[in-house]
Formats: sequence, C-alpha cells, structure tokens
Amino acid sequence: MKKILPATVAVLMLLAGTMAYAAEEQWSYAGEKGPEHWARLDPAFTLCGQGANQSPVNLTGFIEAELEPIKFDYTGLVTKIQHNGHTVQAAYSAGSFMTVNGRQFELRQIHFHTPSEHQLDGKQFPLEAHLVHADAKGQLAVIAVLSSLGAENPNLKKLWQQIPQEVGQEEGMATQVRADHLLPENREYYRLNGSLTTPPCTEGVLWLVMKNPVAVSEEQVKQFSEVIGHPNNRPAQPLNARVVLQ
Ligand SMILES: [Zn+2]
Repeated sequence: MKKILPATVAVLMLLAGTMAYAAEEQWSYAGEKGPEHWARLDPAFTLCGQGANQSPVNLTGFIEAELEPIKFDYTGLVTKIQHNGHTVQAAYSAGSFMTVNGRQFELRQIHFHTPSEHQLDGKQFPLEAHLVHADAKGQLAVIAVLSSLGAENPNLKKLWQQIPQEVGQEEGMATQVRADHLLPENREYYRLNGSLTTPPCTEGVLWLVMKNPVAVSEEQVKQFSEVIGHPNNRPAQPLNARVVLQ
C-alpha cells in the first residue's frame, strides 16, 4: 500500500474544508446565488422576490412628518467581532436600548456593507453600518449610518484593529467600542418600513436612516472590502406604495 504523505493529507483536508464551506453557502452577492436569484434558492426566501416592502431602497420623495428624536440609551460595548462570509458583525452586550415612537428596542449587533445599500436621492456611499435592534416581541428596527470619504474614523479604527481576516473567525474585543460613537453627531433621520436586506428578506423591519453620513477614510473602506473580498450590498428595491418620512 502506498504511503500517504502528511502533506497530501493536509491538502485533502483543506479541500474538504473548502468544499464543505462552499456547500454551506446558501446565497451570495453575485452569480448563480446572487440577489436576483435569492427568491428561488429556498422556499423560505420567497419574499426576496415577491415582497412589496423590500430593503434597501433609494431614499427619495421625502414627506415632512416632524419625526421625534430617537432616544438613545446605549450603555454597553461591542463584545466580539465575527467574519461570517457575508459581512463583519460586531456583537453587542445586553442592556443597550433606543426608543422611538414609544417603542423600545434593544441593540443586538452591528454589521457593515460596502458600497452602501441605501441611497440618498440616487447617491450611493462607500460604506453603510447597520445597527440591528429588536423589541421584546422580536420586532426589528435597524439604524443605518452612511459613511462618506474623509478623515479616518477613530471608532471604526478600534473595530478594524481586530477585523477577522478569515470566514468563520471571531475575535473578542480587546478595546472599548461604543455604538453611540459610531453614530453621527446630528441624529436626524429618515424613516420607512422595509425588510432584512439579506435572505430570508423578512418584512416588518422599521428602518431609521441617519440623514448625515459619518466620515471614514479610503483606507478604512479598503480594509473592509479586502476582508470581505467582494461588494456586499443588495441592489436598491422598488419603493412601491411606501413613503419616506423625514
Ligand atoms: Zn445589513
């Protein structure tokens, strides 16, 4: 019997690992499993194709509504940061809340898209952060923060210092990163109903998009793009009957 070299075994294991991962990837941002095919990939993803209130959108045709300020009670910190193959996601400690229209939502996690998923009057931005919240009934509210190119963002810098390079990699945060430091100073926002921007594209998500972008450097956008390896934005979806309040 031929002796199998340890190096050969290592390569075989590596290939098996890669194949296992490829088989697990249910959807992607391009090709056969790209956004235009999501609805056909799994019966659970039907809304990605048939939903009438899908996100993201190009925010336009704003309606004046005198929206009340969002009340932020973010007391916690980022606990860990993970590369899940679709994005880099930062988990947040329990007990941080925001209140809007009398409804209280707890911050669960923060993740990023490049380029931006939402557009403002047709303008796309290099990076968008999603602060994902849930209320006691599991209803979701997402605060979107757009980024424009400028000075280096010191808070993003702290996060990116531990940005995981490999899919599946997770790092515990060694420095203190607060979610409110990732928000713009001026917290005026646009409001509309929408969905998750990834499969299963579940609707009933309250979207609060910050009107003012925060600055990030070109290098910081590049750092994120290189780790993800491809754009990770779903294209803008039709507004249909929805209105964008401001
Ligand atoms: Zn997102």
